[in-house]
Amino acid sequence: MAHPIAASLFYSKVPLTQPLTWRGEQKDQREAAIVQLNWDNGEVSWGEIAPLPGFSKESLQQAIDSARYHLRALLDQTNHVAPEPSVAFGIDCALQSIDIAAEPSQRAMLLQGEPAEILEKIELMPKLPRCIKLKVSRAPLPQEIKLLEAIQAQMPVTQIRLDANQGWKFEDALSFFRGINAEQLSFIEEPCDTLAATVCLGASGCPVALDEHLQDEMFTPTAFEGLRALVIKPTLVGSLARCQQLVDWAKQHKISVVVSASYESSLGTSQLAALAQRWAPSEIPGLDTLHYLQPHALPDTAGQNLPSHWQPLWQS
Ligand SMILES: [Mg+2]
Repeated sequence: MAHPIAASLFYSKVPLTQPLTWRGEQKDQREAAIVQLNWDNGEVSWGEIAPLPGFSKESLQQAIDSARYHLRALLDQTNHVAPEPSVAFGIDCALQSIDIAAEPSQRAMLLQGEPAEILEKIELMPKLPRCIKLKVSRAPLPQEIKLLEAIQAQMPVTQIRLDANQGWKFEDALSFFRGINAEQLSFIEEPCDTLAATVCLGASGCPVALDEHLQDEMFTPTAFEGLRALVIKPTLVGSLARCQQLVDWAKQHKISVVVSASYESSLGTSQLAALAQRWAPSEIPGLDTLHYLQPHALPDTAGQNLPSHWQPLWQS
């Protein structure tokens, strides 16, 4: 069995194609650390550590400090899983040599922005997507119901995933659900501010999915009526073992798994595509964030040449 004999960390900063606001903070670039492992059989593998500002509890600096400690322990063979999800995910991807060349064959198209922008974007699409994802619980209910109706008129057969990010009280979520034509609706991700309210909404006939709850390491899922999918964002959930546990649980309960990105670079996004292929080959993954990052190169696996935007940070 091959063993890692050296570890390095790089810093990567990729400009965004448009400014993005994460929990109130506007950013125009995406920063990450990249782990490189060198193995005793001459192979090299990589992983991306990219805490998402406003969503990850750890900052990039905390993640880098933790990664240094855990990579050192890994080489000393006293490894244990890093507590920061982004670090655990990045190190695991390098440790398990997850494919960096995979590409998502299909992805749920993420629609963001003002209603007029969204509708114009759809009008300009040369081909309608099989699946879209739309954020809700941001504007008054009648406005969001109207937008959904307009989208459905333009895309009558597209599957629709909605994401409320825990933004509604039960009554609002129920009024919304009762106010829409739910034929194309796959599910609403985290509709309510509490799990109990989401469970009640599921019991009222609304298909729902869990996302934020899965990011709490103490959370153990239980099946309930209406639960259709687990949306797994490995950068926010953590180790591949924890993700695998959730995948196994979902399979056992015949609930779908949607592997989702958190604005990782092309390296992390490729690895997520490989994991989506492994964990949920028949489900359309939520990997439509890469186009918000300026295109950039992947490491060349044969020559082991690193892209120029990777700056060395640390070496074991
Ligand atoms: Mg979500």
